[in-house]
Amino acid sequence: MPKPFSVGSVVSPKRPARRGERTLAALGEFGLIAQIRRRAPIGRRGGVLLGIGDDAAILDPGGPRLLLVTTDMLVEGVHFALATTSPYALGRKALAVNLSDIAAMGGTPRYALIALAAPPVTPARLLRELYRGVCAEAKRFNVSLVGGDTCAAPAGLTLGLTVLGEVPRRQAVTRAGARPGDRIWVTGTLGGSAAGLAALQRGWGTRRSEDAWVRRAVRRHRLPEPRCAAGRRLAARRIATAMLDLSDGLASDLARLCEESRVGVRIDAGRLPLDPAAQRLAPRLGADALAWAVGGGEDYELVFTSRRPAAAVRAAMPPGVRATEVGIVVEQRHGRTIEGPHGLTRPLIGGYDHFRPNAGKRPRVFA
Ligand code: ADP
Ligand code: MG
Repeated sequence: MPKPFSVGSVVSPKRPARRGERTLAALGEFGLIAQIRRRAPIGRRGGVLLGIGDDAAILDPGGPRLLLVTTDMLVEGVHFALATTSPYALGRKALAVNLSDIAAMGGTPRYALIALAAPPVTPARLLRELYRGVCAEAKRFNVSLVGGDTCAAPAGLTLGLTVLGEVPRRQAVTRAGARPGDRIWVTGTLGGSAAGLAALQRGWGTRRSEDAWVRRAVRRHRLPEPRCAAGRRLAARRIATAMLDLSDGLASDLARLCEESRVGVRIDAGRLPLDPAAQRLAPRLGADALAWAVGGGEDYELVFTSRRPAAAVRAAMPPGVRATEVGIVVEQRHGRTIEGPHGLTRPLIGGYDHFRPNAGKRPRVFA
């Protein structure tokens, strides 16, 4: 490990962008990733079946199975606030969001590593609880915790998790296999996590007496359920032609699928499986449940495309998981649209970009 920088030595105020110099805010999260991707080296020995650009990298170690690798970071003040989540739930979620990326490839998660940065004043009990959460989630999915890294942080907690998984050869489902005419499906319900976050931001959901819908939405936000069994079954039965998990919001995540598959999509707003808690809470919070479903993010459901009959898709779902058909893949030139009531069609926009946090926030889909 190199000697750490002193805080603030890389970014403003000590090293602000010069006038006219391009900033990360202008580039955007996806602009930055595209730039890194163009320059990313691939070693001469190969073995990289898929590098940057999907939910996980696909590597070929030889043998009947391929290796899947993904990493995701949770940062205090960006992804969570310790005032509104327990360290235990945070630990579970930190692992769950990575398991979700392995699920989205149709794989099985096997091993996890945790990089942790925490200020010296962090209560030891908090970290014990956090690891209790990570370990509980790992046990649920038969995942082994095999390493990590620990260092001091000037302020705030940062958790970086890496998960390795495996998938039988030729079974991995990428974002690139969708073709015009494929139907678009999602698992579970949408918008519940955004509803939970909105409730927490209002100061709701922290008391036991809170009503059942608030509790449900907050739970959806705090403890997402990675769809590992569903992802694996969709891959094994060759039902999904393309798949990814819903981390940034349907609009933003489908945009990634469209880029990789070079297609467009048409979503039918009336078919979106809105989370019942989101529907109940939206009017009370002055929000739009449909906008939560399309732009809210963090539902960690799977969105996938399929050419197979609806009955085959439904039959592939594990017990307790529902799949809903929500639209159709179209040619790229038709773009990405959402069709609302009375045939009203709008561009499918919304979703989260880390360096432009307000860009796609709470769009009114059909105002
Ligand atoms: P997800 O939301 O599924 O975790 P991301 O949008 O975070 O996916 O990442 C998209 C792709 O870009 C992935 O292949 C990821 O590994 C890669 N990626 C993201 N950030 C970086 C980075 N800073 N350097 C290299 N690759 C990155
Ligand atoms: Mg993902």
